[in-house]
Amino acid sequence: MPARDPNIRKKDFEQVNCGYTQSEMLKEAKRCLQCQESLCIRGCPVGVDIPGFIKYLTQNDPKQAAIVLRRRNNLPAVCGRVCPQENQCEKFCVLSKRNESISIGNLERYAADASTRDNSNIAINKNGIKIAVIGSGPAGLTCGGELLKIGYDVTVYESLHDVGGVLRYGIPEFRLPKDVLDLELHNLKKLGMKIILNVLIGRTKTIKELFDEGYKAVFIATGAGLPIFPKISGENLNHIYSANEFLVRVNLMHSFDFPSYDTPVYRARNVVVIGGGNTAMDTARTALRLGAENVKLVYRKTEDEIPAREEEQIHAKEEGIEFVTLTSPVKFIGNEKRFVKAVECIKIELANIDSLGRRYFHKVVGSNYIIKADMVVLALGLHPNPILPSLIDGLITDTSGYVITDNSLMTSLPGIFAGGDIIGGTTVIEAMGMGKRAAREIEKYLKR
Ligand SMILES: Cc1cc2nc3c(=O)[nH]c(=O)nc-3n(C[C@H](O)[C@H](O)[C@H](O)COP(=O)(O)OP(=O)(O)OC[C@H]3O[C@@H](n4cnc5c(N)ncnc54)[C@H](O)[C@@H]3O)c2cc1C
Repeated sequence: MPARDPNIRKKDFEQVNCGYTQSEMLKEAKRCLQCQESLCIRGCPVGVDIPGFIKYLTQNDPKQAAIVLRRRNNLPAVCGRVCPQENQCEKFCVLSKRNESISIGNLERYAADASTRDNSNIAINKNGIKIAVIGSGPAGLTCGGELLKIGYDVTVYESLHDVGGVLRYGIPEFRLPKDVLDLELHNLKKLGMKIILNVLIGRTKTIKELFDEGYKAVFIATGAGLPIFPKISGENLNHIYSANEFLVRVNLMHSFDFPSYDTPVYRARNVVVIGGGNTAMDTARTALRLGAENVKLVYRKTEDEIPAREEEQIHAKEEGIEFVTLTSPVKFIGNEKRFVKAVECIKIELANIDSLGRRYFHKVVGSNYIIKADMVVLALGLHPNPILPSLIDGLITDTSGYVITDNSLMTSLPGIFAGGDIIGGTTVIEAMGMGKRAAREIEKYLKR
């Protein structure tokens, strides 16, 4: 996928990837072998007919390709940009054995962009049965979209003032432009989805009140937005942010446009980001775009273990993010006014590889050293949002706060289903897969 010049793009929030031209798309689509037994489909949690949509692309018919895509995926323009395809569909492509997998994600993006507005009119027989979805991230939107298609009356409740969950407030504009998300939302609204913003279910309105209002089932898709802190000295110093706070300020609250918007964020010169996931990459690249001169990504294992999407790692390096691997923070050091000025780190080394190939690491005693920083962002992972689960009597969660469900995604309470990050998902497409499954199971439950 062609991308913009790193020296230019690192100074703005415009999209990094340019998208295929028509001839690039045709060249890539025509490499697809159209296998009889399509292993790639098995690698897709929502089961998109991958050879089916690629076939239309080979005929230069992206609109028809998009219709095939949208049969199984309510947000293809999003997935074409953010799915970790290298671990999903593309990993199962037969050509992956030769390291020549079809770039399914890039083709998906092409088809979806060529036809972002779904103008096909689906005839829906409404059944008048009301379902409430809590949370407007990919799990909630997908579950809601699927239920609408089979006739249910769906209302999505969202606590924030805008729709999309992490797609809106976490993933930055340069990876997922918000007008792309808005066009996908247009398609869902066209199906009849009602979205009510600024309602924190559990506090503004309880689950019991929802049932009293006539909802026959509820889908909890409240995500995992509770940051994990390292619990080390100095973590409460000023200018140390959790990645969630930092990204929400920038993406949702437009902090980069202060004073037009009134939620500023500190513009640092030397930034240290702790972590190695997608959140860490997004944070580091956002800090760079806000004007930082040096951005270091501190990660405790080697580059082989970094969990972020491969493409994000490549782009981050091209833009000048420095990867400091095999390193862990031990304390944050502040100045007399309690503003962070440095991170004390310790070196880590590979200690052992067991018979199953698992790699174990340990700290190198006495290897402590200092990295200068006037801002630190912690991207160490997220726990499930605790507010709603803690307010529902009888709802069982595990010790980390994930809602427990049975095979049908129903929680310990009848009629209350859950999916996405709140039950342990970690990617957009997994959340969507669970949203789809939950819709089927809600339908079965209500028919019973
Ligand atoms: C910065 C970042 C980058 C990422 N990058 C990628 C990527 O490139 N590719 C990928 O596949 N995955 C990525 N992920 C992970 C992915 O975004 C999540 O797995 C996915 O969004 C989970 O979807 P969800 O619907 O379960 O929850 P969310 O997207 O978290 O949505 C939950 C929604 O519920 C709302 N909510 C919470 N509590 C309540 C309540 N009580 N009442 C009403 N509403 C409530 C929240 O405000 C939120 O809008 C990234 C995550 C982050 C944080």
